Amino acid sequence: MAFELPKLPYSHDALNPHIDTATMEVHHGKHHAAYVAKLNTAVSGSGMEGKSLEELIKNHTNVAAVRNNGGGHWNHSLFWTVMSPSGGGAPNGELSSAINGAFGSFEEFKAAFSIAGATQFGSGWAWLCVSNGGKLEVCSTANQDNPLMPGLGCEGLPILGLDVWEHAYYLKYQNRRPDYINAFFDVVNWTEVSRRFNEAK
Ligand code: MN
Repeated sequence: MAFELPKLPYSHDALNPHIDTATMEVHHGKHHAAYVAKLNTAVSGSGMEGKSLEELIKNHTNVAAVRNNGGGHWNHSLFWTVMSPSGGGAPNGELSSAINGAFGSFEEFKAAFSIAGATQFGSGWAWLCVSNGGKLEVCSTANQDNPLMPGLGCEGLPILGLDVWEHAYYLKYQNRRPDYINAFFDVVNWTEVSRRFNEAK
């Protein structure tokens, strides 16, 4: 019942030119794979075998290897699905209304999310979450933490996440994290984000 690396829902070169092939290969095949392998090592023989990934990252973040590698596995598993070669544009339907209600407009949401990603110091993630009160919120977290983990001042169910670790963009964008964030919006899979939003409500 070990955790497994999920398959990418598209080919490594599918997100070109926004996210380059070499980055996708090493990011999914090396970085995400390493989080999965190290999570399995951390859980094995620990008494935590058989617990779901959600349960591990909600209730066992006091174990650093579970926090870092469980978070890494959960975060990247979300990340691959919220991008698509046919993505970009803006959401519609109920998610669009909820974004307008929470942020004023899609452009204002995009600005808030971009700032969250650009100003996260060092490695981390930017998130769009459905908070525990049902409201949409933008925040960021460090390292492989995420809003399912307690006590971060950023709590809820993430429906969109952006990896701002240098390994996510450095091969193509070097130090230009804001350019990478702009490019991300050209591949966001709003169909999947809407599906997650409807499920979270
Ligand atoms: Mn990553």
